[in-house]
Amino acid sequence: MEIEIATIGGYEEVGRQMTAVRAGDDVVVFDMGLNLSKVLIHDNVETERMHSLDLIDMGAIPDDRVMSELEGDVKAIVPTHGHLDHIGAISKLAHRYDAPIVATPFTIELVKQQIKGEEKFGVQNDLVKMEAGGRMAIGDENELEFVNVTHSIIDAINPVLHTPEGAIVYGLDKRMDHDPVLGDPIDMERFREIGREGVLCYIEDCTNAGKKGRTPSESVARRHLKDVMYSLEDYDGGIVATTFSSHIARVKSLVEFADDIGRQPVLLGRSMEKYSGTAERLDFVDFPDDLGMYGHRKSVDRTFKRIMNEGKENFLPIVTGHQGEPRAMLTRMGRGETPYDIEDGDKVIFSARVIPEPTNEGQRYQSEKLLRMQGARIYDEIHVSGHLREEGHYEMLDALQPENVIPAHQDMQGFAPYVDLAEQFGLEVGETLHVTRNGNMIQLVE
Ligand SMILES: [Zn+2]
Repeated sequence: MEIEIATIGGYEEVGRQMTAVRAGDDVVVFDMGLNLSKVLIHDNVETERMHSLDLIDMGAIPDDRVMSELEGDVKAIVPTHGHLDHIGAISKLAHRYDAPIVATPFTIELVKQQIKGEEKFGVQNDLVKMEAGGRMAIGDENELEFVNVTHSIIDAINPVLHTPEGAIVYGLDKRMDHDPVLGDPIDMERFREIGREGVLCYIEDCTNAGKKGRTPSESVARRHLKDVMYSLEDYDGGIVATTFSSHIARVKSLVEFADDIGRQPVLLGRSMEKYSGTAERLDFVDFPDDLGMYGHRKSVDRTFKRIMNEGKENFLPIVTGHQGEPRAMLTRMGRGETPYDIEDGDKVIFSARVIPEPTNEGQRYQSEKLLRMQGARIYDEIHVSGHLREEGHYEMLDALQPENVIPAHQDMQGFAPYVDLAEQFGLEVGETLHVTRNGNMIQLVE
């Protein structure tokens, strides 16, 4: 059977992930993501109203025109998890393919919400839920399987396309967590089994490949957060926390520790309400019944007023804005645009790390400066990454023993440390180790 892989997006950047695999007459598309930094750099861009081609020209969504070179029919569009760099272009591109979108329940719900917000295209693709561990026939000869992985968002999987020529494992994004705060540990046993059955190709996210050692478990970030928050138990002023709103496990820890130190947690900001509300509705997390979640400007301001009236020392606002996004809640608080007064000595907890990218770094610098000018004390980097480091990558390559490897989710510089590692497994650049760019075709079996 002919096997061909189109590396459509995310092979020159972190963002706008999209890869298509053709096995005989069947094509499966993995991820359709957005490169948010290409959107944020322009003022007042409303992607909801923009045409696909304009977004392609901006470098914001994958240039899927290369799909016309791929023979066969698209049988499924498979986003791996709910981060925007993996699902953010579905509302702009999926309608061009007559295929269902297949994903885990939490991811499907986020895709559904994204499609609803789209104003230019009506995406009518069927939405099919499949749990981790599930399998689905793709045409007569291929089968799709979801293997449970751990990442900085719940319900993440690595899809595997089983073909007569061997398995194709799409390995974006994960860390190896054996003690996650929410959900099941990574299913390494299944990966080792798939490795024994034979892996034709492994496509892997190289984000932290240049970092030594292993990525700590989410339970380590939880302990770090506990240490910081318990140390503030006697502080009788304002404490504000921020984290990735899609990071439900972290939000859960913040909510629990707020309660432990005698503060009422409250989630503020549109995306806080969106992700935590969705996770709670789908029973992925059990929040206290009285946990307030407010997204709309008016209800947020009303809550801030209530906090100021009843005493800041009784609350822990958990807000958006960990990257200093100009319109997010924490940045607005820093600019004094909300009824919440930050006073000398008040604490701001960043349960996040700045995404190392100039736009983020600049915005975060500004936001932090504004907070410090009001006297805020900053607790930074209470966080663990969602991506594998060097030893995690080693373990994956050791488990899968792939015949071919395609490094992804980085630029050329980011690929380099992964290439060095993969060479230790006998893979050869230009032969079985395919260092590539956006818009290329790799023929694995002719
Ligand atoms: Zn991700």
